[in-house]
Amino acid sequence: MTAATHPLADALRDAEPASFWTDRSDAPESCEPLTGRATCDLLVVGGGFTGLWAAIEAKALHPALDVVLMESEQIAYGASGRNGGFISESLTHGIAHGLELWPDELDALLRLGRENLQEIEAFAAAEGIDAGLRMCGKTAVATKPHHMAQLRAAAALHRQYGEDAEILNLDEMRADVNSPTYLGGMRVRSGGGLVDPAALCWGMKAAALRRGIRIHEGTAVRGLRSAGDGVEVSTDRGSLRTSRVVLATNAYPPLLRRLRLRVLPIYDHVLVTEPLSPTALASIGWQQNQGLTDVGNQFHYYRRTPDDRILWGGYDAIYYFGNRTDAEREQRDSSHALLARQFAETFPQLEGLRFTHRWAGLIDSTSRFTPVFGTALGGRVSYSVGFTGLGVAASRFGARVALDLLTGEHTERTRLQMVQRKPVPFPPEPLRYPVVQATRAALAREDVSGHRGAWLRLLDSLGVGFNS
Ligand SMILES: Cc1cc2nc3c(=O)[nH]c(=O)nc-3n(C[C@H](O)[C@H](O)[C@H](O)COP(=O)(O)OP(=O)(O)OC[C@H]3O[C@@H](n4cnc5c(N)ncnc54)[C@H](O)[C@@H]3O)c2cc1C
Repeated sequence: MTAATHPLADALRDAEPASFWTDRSDAPESCEPLTGRATCDLLVVGGGFTGLWAAIEAKALHPALDVVLMESEQIAYGASGRNGGFISESLTHGIAHGLELWPDELDALLRLGRENLQEIEAFAAAEGIDAGLRMCGKTAVATKPHHMAQLRAAAALHRQYGEDAEILNLDEMRADVNSPTYLGGMRVRSGGGLVDPAALCWGMKAAALRRGIRIHEGTAVRGLRSAGDGVEVSTDRGSLRTSRVVLATNAYPPLLRRLRLRVLPIYDHVLVTEPLSPTALASIGWQQNQGLTDVGNQFHYYRRTPDDRILWGGYDAIYYFGNRTDAEREQRDSSHALLARQFAETFPQLEGLRFTHRWAGLIDSTSRFTPVFGTALGGRVSYSVGFTGLGVAASRFGARVALDLLTGEHTERTRLQMVQRKPVPFPPEPLRYPVVQATRAALAREDVSGHRGAWLRLLDSLGVGFNS
């Protein structure tokens, strides 16, 4: 069979090279780019969740503040319009990771994360944002025998910290969601759920405009410099003078060079299928309609969309030499074909189902999988980047930290070690690329064997990791 006649090539043939979430007719009108000269009190750079929350929360704290948001493309162009839509309370990339890094602060971090998610829910309800937000929890599935021990330990830890987690054996798991690859699972009913991320971004955009926040789309910020007691900002067709700036630019080329050391841009790939027929859906079950992930360093995340497609993403996280990012890298045939093959293995009963969308998005990975916060230009600029694949909800917390840092006030948030201490920097190129590749290979080996090899143990001892 040639590549072209392979059934998987057929499945991917007509897939739009676009994010399913933003590829629809009810996308809002774009806001005008900045032209000429402007001023404001606070400029937010980046129109994803972090930037939108920073602008909205700044207005909530100080209604008289004149706030401008600049986005180089459109609102939700970046990771915020391309993700899996898993919304989680966790600020620490999971309880176990938080316990490992900040055992003394874990209770506070869990409480802050829970409050953060409740406040997102309350905001969406108050603003009438219909983003399909459902607190349905998620299920982690075991596909290798050694995963079950990991899930049992994880379930015990979840329960210890007040979460509702239950272990499912093989029959229970397959009765819930039917795949021949499942050996069991962990059903977590608390701690988060699912959302339509673009609908949430667009609802937030409307809420921001209602509050008088000026949004300029198609406006890339090219440079920042101190000017008197403020900041002078340049764009392609204009310039702006502002008192303060929040940078919310994820893994895109940073406006501060120092962030290149702390953030690794990783491409994460996603597919979405055509809608499933009632018969196809019945062959899987999945009545609770929760999000699913498998266990492992290289994992898949998958969920149903509101119109009963399946979004299937993850696994093949790709780093390009020199932190290279550009739109051409969003269509990597081998990563999408690998995802399609793994989908077919997971749900063989869906043979013949086609994919309608394929894309990739940028994950801002730090070496400790949680964001890096800080200030620059004498405290006039703050940043919040590095959510490492878990930022749909945590970005709101990150935006609040960035605003706190601009005021210079000490708050419960800014006192956290997670905020005060920065992650270990990644090595510069030409070392960075081989280190990332060696780490990927070691993570893949661990996924097969269940044993942490010498390279990963060495990185653990240095407090360095790599994750999507
Ligand atoms: C494929 C994928 C799946 C994911 N799945 C999940 C998930 O299921 N759950 C979860 O919690 N997290 C997930 N994440 C992570 C989550 O999407 C991000 O952490 C979150 O959206 C980050 O929001 P942000 O606003 O910081 O970044 P972005 O949404 O990327 O926004 C940054 C914006 O800044 C703009 N920008 C950059 N530079 C400039 C400049 N110089 N001037 C003006 N604008 C600029 C960009 O165009 C971009 O729109 C996923 C990420 C990806 C890529």
